[in-house]
Amino acid sequence: MHIAIIGGGAAGLMAAVAASETGDADITVIERNVAPGRKILLTGGGRCNLTTGLSDVREILSRYPRGGRFLSSAMRRFPPAAVRDWFEGHGVPLKTEADNRVFPRSNDGHDVVGVFERLLVPPRARLMTGTSVSGVSRQSDGQFAILLSRRVHPLLVDRLIIATGGQAYRQTGSTGDGYAFASALGHTVTKLAPSLSGLTIAERWPAELSGLSFTRVRLTADRDRRLSWLGPLVFTHQGLSGPVAFALSALVAHHHFDSIQPLALNVDLFPDLSREELTGRLTDLLAKNARHSFRNVLSELVPKRLAAAACECLKLDPNRKAAEASRRELRQTADWLKSIPLHLTGRRAGEEFVTAGGVELSEVNPSTMESKVCPGLFLAGEVLDIDGLTGGFNLQAAWCTGRLAGENAARR
Ligand SMILES: Cc1cc2nc3c(=O)[nH]c(=O)nc-3n(C[C@H](O)[C@H](O)[C@H](O)COP(=O)(O)OP(=O)(O)OC[C@H]3O[C@@H](n4cnc5c(N)ncnc54)[C@H](O)[C@@H]3O)c2cc1C
Repeated sequence: MHIAIIGGGAAGLMAAVAASETGDADITVIERNVAPGRKILLTGGGRCNLTTGLSDVREILSRYPRGGRFLSSAMRRFPPAAVRDWFEGHGVPLKTEADNRVFPRSNDGHDVVGVFERLLVPPRARLMTGTSVSGVSRQSDGQFAILLSRRVHPLLVDRLIIATGGQAYRQTGSTGDGYAFASALGHTVTKLAPSLSGLTIAERWPAELSGLSFTRVRLTADRDRRLSWLGPLVFTHQGLSGPVAFALSALVAHHHFDSIQPLALNVDLFPDLSREELTGRLTDLLAKNARHSFRNVLSELVPKRLAAAACECLKLDPNRKAAEASRRELRQTADWLKSIPLHLTGRRAGEEFVTAGGVELSEVNPSTMESKVCPGLFLAGEVLDIDGLTGGFNLQAAWCTGRLAGENAARR
């Protein structure tokens, strides 16, 4: 039996290893880049955040805005703990950071890719790099015909795994070709959209805060509790970045918004305090520093630049004595800090980490990753309609779906 895997990224490489461990099939990984795993090397800022330190599968699955339920079988078969053991067992010591992101202890993604380069060697497996697939079709005898950039004749195989990734960071070789291959073999591809990107906003004043970061902020879009996330935030020249902005971009991936039709956004800088508690804190501070300026007292609570911005947005005289602030003004300030109103106008184009949308999940068996519409075809990784939040969840999805696809493709 001959299995071809299109895509030498995380899902394809793991599928190839799993297939080689499972049966005696010949395995060919076809990768357009001259070396495999190019995107793996970019993850985690080059350090490769390969999975999460979380262990509760339910909690892990909740980090996938799309595809969590579908992932359940794959995730239980190859959960983050097993992924960590697997890499450590293959000579890559790992570390888990305080925010549960897992990295190679070396902080070098090459160590992760190196495992696959060592394991995927002839005679059983072959990494066919520098080769692009331009089309796939099903033959009347059930084989798959794969058109390759450097060959006149198609490659004929018995089983096919599409692991071409999404279409984010296209310069890495993930250009979305797999969507066309899956469609050609009878699959539906859902609406595609960028996810995990910085956000741009209509308001100009937050540009003054560029570079300011907050460790725990709640962002809520459209005043909808389902479109809400808690985490670190960074203000940028054009808007918002950091894990909580990325998470929100994932939650609103399929929402339409632009400068003409912006999406309302609220920033809660004190998610752990109620409005009353925050008003109380402000009241105490102002009472203790009655003779100082309102802005300076506010700066005890938030960074100076934000205190100045708050005074401007609320039209409060920043130089007025703290003692002169009225009860209403204190409440107004607390309300503002608990719910800074902004308007989302767009996503940082071309900078998204993943693609939301992909091959329709109801057409794929979640226990095997085999296509329900084209037997013998398997799909794994980001080409599926699965996307996770930041923190190692996307690579984790690629490893566990890749593993399941490889094991099942290799079974006769
Ligand atoms: C900048 C950045 C940072 C990220 N950081 C993290 C992180 O820290 N943690 C995390 O979990 N996730 C992260 N991700 C997301 C994660 O990298 C992807 O979700 C994951 O790599 C998807 O794996 P995949 O195997 O499905 O696809 P890919 O890794 O995209 O691999 C697909 C492969 O298929 C090849 N290919 C495509 N079409 C063809 C064709 N026609 N012929 C031949 N080969 C083809 C491509 O060249 C590519 O190598 C990040 C993504 C980016 C862009």
